[in-house]
Amino acid sequence: MASKVGHFVCLQSGEQYTLQQARWCSEQGNLLDIQFNPTFPLDKIQKRPKNLWRYWEALPIDSPTSIVSFSEGATPLNTLEFEGKPLRVKLEYLNPTGSFKDRGTSVLVSKLKEWGVQQVVEDSSGNAGASIAAYCAKAGIKANVFVPAHASPSKIAQIRAYGAQIHLIEGSRDKVAQAALQLAHELHYASHVWHPLFIQGMKTFAYELCEQSRWQAPDTVVLPAGNGSLLIGCYIGFRELKQAGIIGRIPKLIGVQPQHCAPLYEAFVKGKLPKADYQAKPTLAEGMAVAHPLRGKQMIQYVELSGGKFVTVTESEIAHMTLELARRGYLVEPTCAAVVAGARHYLLHEALPDEVVVAPLTATGLKSIDTIQKLLG
Ligand SMILES: *Cc1c(COP(=O)(O)O)cnc(C)c1O
Repeated sequence: MASKVGHFVCLQSGEQYTLQQARWCSEQGNLLDIQFNPTFPLDKIQKRPKNLWRYWEALPIDSPTSIVSFSEGATPLNTLEFEGKPLRVKLEYLNPTGSFKDRGTSVLVSKLKEWGVQQVVEDSSGNAGASIAAYCAKAGIKANVFVPAHASPSKIAQIRAYGAQIHLIEGSRDKVAQAALQLAHELHYASHVWHPLFIQGMKTFAYELCEQSRWQAPDTVVLPAGNGSLLIGCYIGFRELKQAGIIGRIPKLIGVQPQHCAPLYEAFVKGKLPKADYQAKPTLAEGMAVAHPLRGKQMIQYVELSGGKFVTVTESEIAHMTLELARRGYLVEPTCAAVVAGARHYLLHEALPDEVVVAPLTATGLKSIDTIQKLLG
């Protein structure tokens, strides 16, 4: 089969690299993106099975035999009312390993299989590690996952259960990433932060949002702003649909951060990039405890281009929303509730009467049941 036309591009220098060879950073060690011309044959797409691979012509994988899939994506779009106003929520926790990370992982691991990669390293506070572990198990790729020693025990168990090699690291999330980078000198770094193929999977979230509304984009999407894989992927997805003439404009993107760890919010308000010495405090939103987001500049740029902004939520708002969502039948982890708390505030205080506002329910609460038990008292 003919390969789809595309290449890696260095975010720093613009230098290009072939997509035919395994790579996760530039020769100089800088971040990469992928330049790729997706197409959207809508009549074909709508006849295909309900998972993210229905957008085949928009994904930079050459052969269908490379696909590593558990039928991820195609998550339901429900409505939650807050004081009579509708918030549309996309049930990303229904993905195969319990979080939206499966979108990025399915596309990334499919490319790893296409490249013939046999062993990878990844670092994660839990959900990305579990996702990589599961998809690597299916692909027959050996996964080494670096995790903070204080990560949720059920997430660590999930990663081990899929058969990955766990490396527990004491200290901050940054320390864990440094340890993984060491091993990345020898093994392929399947990082959900570094790897542009992971972001290529994330963009399907934007495609689905539009397809679920008869190819109409929502007005506003409220997203987690941790490492930004979903936020960046979402922007790229909407931009591609706009370039293809399928939607008229890119929705406003609002990035939510916990007040205890809000480097991008501060940078956005002050008009300066996150400082190297930014000090974060512990937060219930462990999936967004990212003090130095590697793609921070890119996140700020995309949020600005979309006409959106960054907002923060307090620990008490996160705790309350975790319990409120559970009482409404949505058992999600606190990091997920943080995003909904931000979306609720926007919906009630800033949205126009008919504005369509969407947020993802990013991950199941079943892996964070210890924390939820503490919140219940
Ligand atoms: C990874 C993760 C986040 C942060 O997402 P980014 O794409 O890194 O910003 C938020 N919530 C949950 C549940 C996660 O697993």
